[in-house]
Amino acid sequence: QDYIQEAIRWDKDASGIVTLTFDMAGQSANTMNTVFRSAYAAAVDRIAAELDSITGVILSSAKKTFFAGGDLNSLLAVGPDEKAALYERSQAMKAVLRRLETLGRPVVAAINGTALGGGFELCLACHARFALDDARLALGLPESGLGLLPGGGGVVRLVRMLGLEAAMPLLIDGSTFDPARAQALKLVDGVAADADGLMALARQWIAANPAPVQPWDGKGWRLPGATATAPASLTYLRTAPVLLMKKTRGRYPAPMAIMSAAVEGAVVDFDTATRIESRHFVGLATGAVAKNLITTFFFQMNEVKSGKGRPAGVPASTFGRVGILGAGLMGSGIAQVCAARGIAAVLKDATAEQARKGLERVAANLDKRVAKGTLAAAKRDAQLARITPTGDAADLAGCELIVEAVFENRPLKAQVTREAEPLLAPGGIFASNTSTLPISGLAEASERPENFVGLHFFSPVDRMPLVEVIKGRKTSAETLARALDFVQQIGKTPIVVNDARGFFTSRVFGMFTKEGAAMLAEGVPAEVIENAALAVGMPVGPLAVMDETSMALAMSMRRQTAADLAAEGQPLPQHPAWAVIERMVDGLKRPGRAGGGGFYDYPADGPKRLWPGLAAEYGKPGVDVPMEDLQDRLLYAQAVESIRAMQEGVVETARDANIGSILGIGFPRWTGGTMQFVNMVGARAFAQRAMELAQKYGERFEPPRLLLDKAERNERFV
Ligand code: NAD
Repeated sequence: QDYIQEAIRWDKDASGIVTLTFDMAGQSANTMNTVFRSAYAAAVDRIAAELDSITGVILSSAKKTFFAGGDLNSLLAVGPDEKAALYERSQAMKAVLRRLETLGRPVVAAINGTALGGGFELCLACHARFALDDARLALGLPESGLGLLPGGGGVVRLVRMLGLEAAMPLLIDGSTFDPARAQALKLVDGVAADADGLMALARQWIAANPAPVQPWDGKGWRLPGATATAPASLTYLRTAPVLLMKKTRGRYPAPMAIMSAAVEGAVVDFDTATRIESRHFVGLATGAVAKNLITTFFFQMNEVKSGKGRPAGVPASTFGRVGILGAGLMGSGIAQVCAARGIAAVLKDATAEQARKGLERVAANLDKRVAKGTLAAAKRDAQLARITPTGDAADLAGCELIVEAVFENRPLKAQVTREAEPLLAPGGIFASNTSTLPISGLAEASERPENFVGLHFFSPVDRMPLVEVIKGRKTSAETLARALDFVQQIGKTPIVVNDARGFFTSRVFGMFTKEGAAMLAEGVPAEVIENAALAVGMPVGPLAVMDETSMALAMSMRRQTAADLAAEGQPLPQHPAWAVIERMVDGLKRPGRAGGGGFYDYPADGPKRLWPGLAAEYGKPGVDVPMEDLQDRLLYAQAVESIRAMQEGVVETARDANIGSILGIGFPRWTGGTMQFVNMVGARAFAQRAMELAQKYGERFEPPRLLLDKAERNERFV
């Protein structure tokens, strides 16, 4: 066998076609690292040297994925002082791609696996692309989602292939596509049913195009669609940055850089455009946001998917039949996500009638998707057929998992646990979806508390990606492992949380909403508070959230907590927010949206607006809290609480805190999550700022012991 540096197999057939098969030794996937870059350069050298006997080149892969993309490990390590080196490295790789596409021989990508990012850029640098018609394959340039841009010529080539207006959304959204969709978008030229058909397509194209040039290298070529300076583009280009700014709140540099690289690159020649692209790429890759996004959404997310944090030695389990107690908002949602993944769901409520209402709720939900065209009617029918509504507990017999989602009421939960547990299949597990009640206490109703676990879903269940898996005091490692397997099976992302008041996400999010109320008590105008939250990238303001979740409910949970803590002989933690909440509920009778109004009014005939009475009630003329403090407080309150939760062992890894905070409560993605935010600021600087905020605004910002330890040792949270 003929290998180029153990990375690329070289095969030349009798007709002079060279097939370069990417097959990097010692790696499960092909990546754009030093080894590959030099191997590819060597392969192109050899093609140039043997050009007289070569009629064409086909790119293929021996791995399951065609090409996994850039080497994110090395990108993560690039510091701000290495900009020049990174620029040179990018330019060198692009020069190799450019050389191959301008040698005068047809180069065709036979994409026989997923090709993303740098991997797809290799394909874009070919004269034609064909792909296996397999819906499991993903093609595209997802760099934007990791805070980067396609820096291997992807921006320049896609804009030249599709035109500015068509290419820009693909680049900015970073969406990926299966081959059929990619063909519709003209990202590939054709698809084939199998590997042989794919190679045949590539060979046919080569035979028909013996000396192709890229369209943009041809004479008289013009950018498809409107040019950057055409009147049609000007309208678009004037509004697009504004809309983008509104969407990203200036916190995500990648979409902006992509737009700049695309537009600037569209008005200059190819080589200049690639240099512009490299410059923007280097700026992004050496910035903090890309590092945060890569850390959390690539590395930590992959760790979760590959089962890190799952107890070792427990055989993997799959679930075929799941019981759900309570067919309300949550129970019906859980049934829906089970059915969508092929799991039979027994949906049990107090009566068959109520259970049927739960099924109708699922049906209505799926109907909307069918109407939108995102779900086939046949699939809807198949999913609904997997859900069995019932009022009879006996129907739960043989379930491998039963999830309880009845009213938040201890005696009721104990009763349904005692009733349903004996019906579990041998070795089955029982889960509670409680949002506030400690799991260890609920497990007391169980005959087998080692098989009892918390599965805390978020509303709406079908759209929220996170599930907190709560370990009770007696939950066994095997039960935890099986619960994690279930969450993965239904396509959600699990984090592991120890049993404690508010678990992880509610506890951290509570500090965000309460901080908003505390600001109001200081006299900060409500609209300033809400805007500060949006400006740092939170999806909604704290006052709006409190209205939605009901301050009356918050008060009653507070009373429950007070009683529980008193019974344990523990003090009730204080927070300046409570005075505001109490006054809103009891004094002003404005408990929130469901109660007719709260911080906002909800007129029947228009959008909500802040209640004008707030200024008279809380406004303090002349109060001046710096915007920077307001923004920092909203993030620091949550980050400090995360550290405290970690110190108490509620979460055990920065990974779980990061993923939980972003997917569960909307902590801004650009930070990489609560703990990555601390890492980004640096433990020392973070502790210092927290101390400052504690002095000015209250002891809730006091740096926890764990933070001070990290600061002293100059360590990161992992
Ligand atoms: P819900 O009121 O919509 O549904 C509760 C259902 O339980 C009702 O359909 C009721 O008829 C049923 N039920 C009552 N007694 C029953 C019995 N004996 N047997 C079977 N079913 C019975 O409530 P929900 O919002 O779906 O919440 C359910 C659970 O999920 C609660 O523990 C809640 O704390 C938790 N939770 C809720 C949310 C949320 O956002 N709503 C989020 C996470 C967790």
